[in-house]
Amino acid sequence: MKKISRKQFFGFGAALAGVGLGKSPAGAGFSPGTTALLASQPSLAGVEPDLVVINARVYTVDSSLPRAEAFAVKNGRFIAVGSTADVRHLASARTRVIDAGQATVTPGFIDTHCHVSGVNELYAVNANVRRVRELLANLRAKADKTPAGMWVTAVMFDDTKLDVPLTRQHLDEVSRDHPIVVGHRGGHTSWYNTRAFELAGVNRNTPDPDHGRFFRDDSGELNGRVAEQARAAFSKVGVRETFTPEQQRERGRAGMRHISELLTAAGLTSVHDAGADRDRILAYEDARAHGELRHRAAFLVRGNATFSGFKAAGISYGFGDEWLRVAGVKYGADGSASERTMRMSTPYIGTTDYGILTMTQEEIDDAVEDAHRHDFRVAVHANGDVTIDMVLKAYEKVLAKYPRDDTRHRIEHCSLVNPDLLRRIKALGVVPTPFWTYVYYHGEKWKEYGPERMEWMFAHKSFLDAGIPVAGASDYGPGPFEPMMAIQSMVTRTDYNGNVWGSRQKVTVDDALKIGTINGAYASHEEHVKGSISPGKYADFVMLEKDPHDVNPHEIKDIRIVRTAVGGKTMYPKDEN
Ligand SMILES: [Zn+2]
Repeated sequence: MKKISRKQFFGFGAALAGVGLGKSPAGAGFSPGTTALLASQPSLAGVEPDLVVINARVYTVDSSLPRAEAFAVKNGRFIAVGSTADVRHLASARTRVIDAGQATVTPGFIDTHCHVSGVNELYAVNANVRRVRELLANLRAKADKTPAGMWVTAVMFDDTKLDVPLTRQHLDEVSRDHPIVVGHRGGHTSWYNTRAFELAGVNRNTPDPDHGRFFRDDSGELNGRVAEQARAAFSKVGVRETFTPEQQRERGRAGMRHISELLTAAGLTSVHDAGADRDRILAYEDARAHGELRHRAAFLVRGNATFSGFKAAGISYGFGDEWLRVAGVKYGADGSASERTMRMSTPYIGTTDYGILTMTQEEIDDAVEDAHRHDFRVAVHANGDVTIDMVLKAYEKVLAKYPRDDTRHRIEHCSLVNPDLLRRIKALGVVPTPFWTYVYYHGEKWKEYGPERMEWMFAHKSFLDAGIPVAGASDYGPGPFEPMMAIQSMVTRTDYNGNVWGSRQKVTVDDALKIGTINGAYASHEEHVKGSISPGKYADFVMLEKDPHDVNPHEIKDIRIVRTAVGGKTMYPKDEN
């Protein structure tokens, strides 16, 4: 690695006094604003860092000093970045020194759309299996312990990864006495048994409701699969397991402790929690109060009663602190990419199915205007090109009527685009958050969209080329959250079977790092405090066993995370510090 000259060494004394950096200019290609600080750099003599990391291959994602060997941390922030020789001499007897042994270090990864709960992972029946017999056995084990009439619920199902198509009849084999629901990991479709349909009063003659569908076999009989708002028919019938408020809260905290360990073990230091409600926010607060929270979170609160409460309390965008803060309000305007229900201008391959809208234009307009006028930032889930166009129309209207600078309204997923949509997204300063592990992980689903459409889906490269600061998002549970898989997926556009989907959307490793770090910070207006290894920013970083630039691109996902630090504190491995 090239030696770093003394001139390139820089530090930031203001961080020691707890003074944040100013906001950096909006738009792609921004730099986090360190250059201006070089001239006024105070002396770091006698500073006594808490931590220095030396002998590393540091990718700072800071254009003013892209590569470094070492950095120093004090009070949770980076205070100096540069060569090993320069940083080493800052250490005092009290400073912890980590010799990285030439390991690669990047800024901590930021997942801008993730459903963080952990409760399902700890307590629900696992439907993320590959054989129907295994799924039925898991359900039967739960049904055996469940009183008749009470719901049996399984989660994280993936229909295209099962050995045979799951049917209502399969679930009837488990029980005719319990209502059973198997929820797809994508969150937009579920499978039910006959008892559930009976309780819901749904039969072969029941018409599909607005914004939903009861799927049927060739004879018109219900096949068990139900999409979007048609699932509302099941939500108020049957008996469900109940918990006291104390039990509910304890489960939430346990779930949060569990998922926070998993996220940081994967290299994530911040997530945007897409759909935070009261239970979720309490779980965060409880985990934090008990010292169990390892990652930072920005909430996209649900556009329901939770949002009404925020409005009533006068809480708006940006409220919170460096660990927990409000990042916007979330709505959902169409179906799912992984469940093939997103609303498109052309049908799914070999069908006349264009997908499902879950909001009308008027509903989107009203929600956007209400949130915008309450100083909230809006994040609307829109996968298909039709839906993205509708959301952009709402943003165009509201920004014309009530102009506001640097709003950064978001489009969650923003899966299928075209040149016109890209131009409007750029013009409005909208932030898209497309799926970053999907090409690799959900490869068997893309034939239903077809190779041509896939050239315009999860279009990270097109966004970058258009100057749009696209961020990275797993949407976990629907997609895996591991950032190394995400980098591989975006760089190779190759699925786990070796099929390439949308090769012109391939990005470089450096672009993938940017998407996963500084652009993620930009998506919550936090690029002045995180997203790069720059003096003054939170010391959130990840140490990797291998350099993703050097390994076979198809093996990036196998790179081991050696250490994840948040605010300079090691969060993974979890017992170190
Ligand atoms: Zn989501």
